Amino acid sequence: MTINPTTLQFKAQERNVFFHLLTACNLSCSHCYINTAQHGSQTVSRETMESWLALFYEADKESNIIFLGGEPTLHPDLAHGIRHARELGYATITVDSNGFLFHDLLNRIEPGEAVLSFSLDGPDAAINDPIRGQGVFATCTENLRRAIDLGFEVSVIYTVSRMNLHHLERMPALLNSLGVKRFFIQVIGIRGKSADVEEPLQLSPDQWLTVIPPVAREAAELGMHVIYPKVFLEEGEEFACAGEVAENFFIFPNGRVYKCPLCEDFPIHALEIKDNRLIKTEGLNEDRLFTLHIAEGCVMNKLLQPGNIEYTADGSPKHRISCCLLKQEMQK
Ligand code: SF4
Ligand code: SF4
Repeated sequence: MTINPTTLQFKAQERNVFFHLLTACNLSCSHCYINTAQHGSQTVSRETMESWLALFYEADKESNIIFLGGEPTLHPDLAHGIRHARELGYATITVDSNGFLFHDLLNRIEPGEAVLSFSLDGPDAAINDPIRGQGVFATCTENLRRAIDLGFEVSVIYTVSRMNLHHLERMPALLNSLGVKRFFIQVIGIRGKSADVEEPLQLSPDQWLTVIPPVAREAAELGMHVIYPKVFLEEGEEFACAGEVAENFFIFPNGRVYKCPLCEDFPIHALEIKDNRLIKTEGLNEDRLFTLHIAEGCVMNKLLQPGNIEYTADGSPKHRISCCLLKQEMQK
């Protein structure tokens, strides 16, 4: 039986908190989305971590926390933050790491306390390391194996760009051999360094639609739970902007809080934290952009990469672009 994708619709009763603990990182990936001009170079203190975790926890909703950086395991109090989030009642706790797992993280938390998500951008060092750095594939896969051996729930994130698109097909076999059960295929963003390069790294609609679903299906057939962004809406599918209908917060150590990750390169955050209180920003901010309903779908995509939208002879867009936070899943 063929495995088909299901769209994961936004849930009103869910809140996802993406907490960037710091912007520092030991790596310098060619597509890094961190922008210190916008997000500073601070590291949140242990006290601030506790306060902000409490500030964003909503007891009436399924609150999920994702610790990010920079590299979040560089933060000496990450293990404390994970426990604190658990005590507050967060439903799921995830750490998105480049795989270096600093501060002996595997021995400082128990397997049930957090899901560890590892970033790999190639099925071997020859593809991964030119993107993520010399020796990174070896370190990341070694720590991934250690985490699985210790009983941690792990996932792998593969950010697809024109640099590694044609090597994605080798990932299902690699992940299966490692024992990974969750696979996130991410599309390269138009943020940070990848917004600056001369040769565009983003994929065309055809590249995305012909390569990603078959690889996702193969991984699902091997028993993995696969999640990837929807990107293009089909005829008759409704468009929804997560900024309007969902609760996602992207928190940076300088106190900026965005609702949309595509807005992160600009000072248009809808919210900010001042004196441990969450306040709305004034003026032209992302909240105002979310209300501009256009034929092309996502308004930020249209603003940031208008050249990527193709039009028919009558001027209507060939594809409507979904919210970047709308995901599809495949599993047996
Ligand atoms: S690991 Fe993440 S934060 Fe670090 S350089 Fe790579 S993309 Fe940037
Ligand atoms: S990616 Fe587009 S649709 Fe999604 S929250 Fe941002 S502006 Fe809205």
